[in-house]
Amino acid sequence: MHNFNNKITRRQFITKCGKAGLFCLAASIPIMYPGTAYPGDKPDHVPVDPSNPSIVWNNNLCVGCSNCIKPCQESQTIYGFYDEKSAGEIVCVHCGQCSLYCSKNALTERDDSQKVFDAISDPNLHVVIQTSPSSRVALGEEFGLATGSIVVGKQVTALRKLGFDAVFDTDFSADLTIMEESTELYKRLTGELNEPIPQFTSCCPGWVKFCEYFYPDLIHNLSTCKSPQQMMGSIVKTYYSEQQGIHPSNIFTVAVMPCTAKKFECSRPEMNISGVKAGDSSIRDVDAVLSVRELAKMIKVKGIDFNKLNDSQYDSILGESTGAGVIFGSTGGVMEAALRTLYYKITNETPPEELLSFTEVRGLTEIKEAYVDIPGFGRVNVAVCHGLKQARQILDKIEAGDAPWHFIEFMSCPGGCIGGGGQPKVHIPPQKKDWEARISSIYNLDSNKSVRLSYKNQEVQHLYNTYLGEPMSLLSEELLHTSYVKRGV
Ligand code: SF4
Repeated sequence: MHNFNNKITRRQFITKCGKAGLFCLAASIPIMYPGTAYPGDKPDHVPVDPSNPSIVWNNNLCVGCSNCIKPCQESQTIYGFYDEKSAGEIVCVHCGQCSLYCSKNALTERDDSQKVFDAISDPNLHVVIQTSPSSRVALGEEFGLATGSIVVGKQVTALRKLGFDAVFDTDFSADLTIMEESTELYKRLTGELNEPIPQFTSCCPGWVKFCEYFYPDLIHNLSTCKSPQQMMGSIVKTYYSEQQGIHPSNIFTVAVMPCTAKKFECSRPEMNISGVKAGDSSIRDVDAVLSVRELAKMIKVKGIDFNKLNDSQYDSILGESTGAGVIFGSTGGVMEAALRTLYYKITNETPPEELLSFTEVRGLTEIKEAYVDIPGFGRVNVAVCHGLKQARQILDKIEAGDAPWHFIEFMSCPGGCIGGGGQPKVHIPPQKKDWEARISSIYNLDSNKSVRLSYKNQEVQHLYNTYLGEPMSLLSEELLHTSYVKRGV
């Protein structure tokens, strides 16, 4: 790696269709891979296994319009890209994009709201909820507010009115993720960790399962960091449990997410480290995930007048966040947040202004490439993509040995989590202007924060100083890191 003195230089390579190159060739999909078969003679809806933890299909509501097939086949390259017979299962990454294209509500998220109401009314349970970065710029749409309205404080008040005992912020655990993930990247880049480059982000469970299914030989490129949702779950049922003197079996953890894949993620068998440590492996780190739509329904069912609510603050010890945490909600956000902290980790200096507004990795361009030159270290090449069709293009290049990158952010949904399958259906199908409005609010939240660097999150620092030790310590590895499954189809 080179030393570029003290000056940051950056460059953006934006590949546009119409120019030569692998990315442009791939724009011609959908491709029916050899041996691929449709599940039926004439598909009229995406197939959904009845045991799918995220998505349900209602035969009585389905009119067979086949609109749901488009995102699954064309944007995500799942439907039609595998042989159901040889796979032995219906392949689904649980992104829920199909539900955003269904105007009849025949395809929806699996409804976990009653499970959560039951937990709240159980006097033996201490019920904790965390709110994702992007629900705060979307929940208001369910109550007639303009697309992208920022309702962070109202959301906290609504959750307290619903009866949650503590309201924490997934932005806190996004900062924690950055501490772990930037350390892992540094260790991979310096060879301290014998794992391959490029490192892939791992906070999107839809993307992770896609990699496990279609690119199983690349799972060692996935960061071992759990997603912010799962880091929060394991910290709540270990550290917070100890602080409060409440046994983890008496804590019920809920996450409100833009995401249907998070319902699958919390059900992964290995997501029970708090239970393993407590001697009861049936205890889950996260007990239930609500989509933004489900939370809105719960607020309406309880007759809460959302628009008249005052703002409230998150609860302390797992509620502080920085601008780097909130940008996880948008494509490019994880990358930008990680680079800010990586820069500090290497130079021990505050990152320059360019890295606090790293526009090269922002926005809806399908594949974004950039680089950062870090003084005393060298150039770090990065790429960011959203949508699994784009992920295939990058992964195919890597498999072909043609990969100039050190670090790549992948998100399943268009625009990242702001376009998640559990978000309000402002338009059916979703429109670009809706994603843009939410993205704009996400970056406004970041730029208005007094602290925008994960390593400056005081509550995260306190967690390390009093409990975890340091990023990638033995305890951090145990609680905050995971492993993956070669599913291969
Ligand atoms: Fe879920 Fe976000 Fe991934 Fe979509 S991009 S599947 S909302 S984590």
